[in-house]
Amino acid sequence: MLSKSAKEELKKQVYRVIGNHSAVKVCGWTKSMIRGLGGCYKLKFYGIQSHQCMQMTTSMSCANRCVFCWRGYKAPVSKEWEWEVDDPEMILEESEKAHHNLLVGFKGNKEANKAIYEKSKTVKHVALSLTGEPIIYPKINELIDLFHKKGISTFLVTNAQYPEQIRDLKPITQLYISLDAPTKELLKKIDLPLFKDYWERLNKSLECMAEKKGRTCIRLTIIKGINDNHLKEYAALLEKGDPDFIEVKAYMHIGESRERLKRENMPIHEEIVAFSKELVKELPEYDIVSEHIPSRVILLAKKKFKKQGKWHTWINFKKFHENNNLKTEDFLLPTPQTGLSGKGTKDLIRERRKEEIELQD
Ligand code: SF4
Repeated sequence: MLSKSAKEELKKQVYRVIGNHSAVKVCGWTKSMIRGLGGCYKLKFYGIQSHQCMQMTTSMSCANRCVFCWRGYKAPVSKEWEWEVDDPEMILEESEKAHHNLLVGFKGNKEANKAIYEKSKTVKHVALSLTGEPIIYPKINELIDLFHKKGISTFLVTNAQYPEQIRDLKPITQLYISLDAPTKELLKKIDLPLFKDYWERLNKSLECMAEKKGRTCIRLTIIKGINDNHLKEYAALLEKGDPDFIEVKAYMHIGESRERLKRENMPIHEEIVAFSKELVKELPEYDIVSEHIPSRVILLAKKKFKKQGKWHTWINFKKFHENNNLKTEDFLLPTPQTGLSGKGTKDLIRERRKEEIELQD
């Protein structure tokens, strides 16, 4: 699947390639949690324990070349599966091994919280989203079964170019669609899709998502000056997918996306708040639940998940593992922290500087 130079590039970026088509990389939030510096937004929104999360993909290849992606253009692209299919048991075993090996440096590291590091040795969540398009791995359902049997929850992100695979996917803990643009023209400009019928595929994928019984989420990546408009068109697509949750997230000016976009294209948190407030006016079934300022992301959820004045967006993992074919409302827990703080990116930078100064003192 990979050219020699692409493999070398991945190694430099601390990826570990597993077999023919999978890869693992430790998420920055997993490390942050082990250092006692806090978890990712999925901890705040859904209860994912970042230190027990393994970030990986089952296919490094993708059918798009999104301008905002941190991947370089050396990364493989293809429309169909073209590689030898690896065994799901091997992928699970080798991925866990590689993940733990990448974290072993925290053993005896003064920066690490020892108890949290010890807990990180047991993976409880897998985020199938690292790079490429994980859903096209032909044995994805077998692998998902193996994760669930081990008590590992599954988040999978797809770019909505493979509706049949979405339709055929077994129940997972949370299924994501990345909705990168509100119109056909903008989707072509932003995702540079390989498929000619990319727009039909996106729409069909949204219809397939709407049929799912379990937890679903649509993520918008907002690029300032490019796709931060067309609210009505976004709303129509979101209503088609009928997700339980919507994440409105700022594009981050990182990796190779810096070659294609400018720093000014990265919205600050306040701009994401303002966009979300306008968007929710077009979506009568949804409301704003929470925010995570470091990731510049806002969570919207269906109003029906607010019971007796309290939002319920966390996952009841125990119930999910007892029966993973439940409806979303059957495995919810209250969300501990909700609401908008009124703070923004600049406040966060100011607070960080203050903390750094205090630490130096
Ligand atoms: S859920 Fe995503 S962001 Fe959070 S720790 Fe896992 S890979 Fe990282």
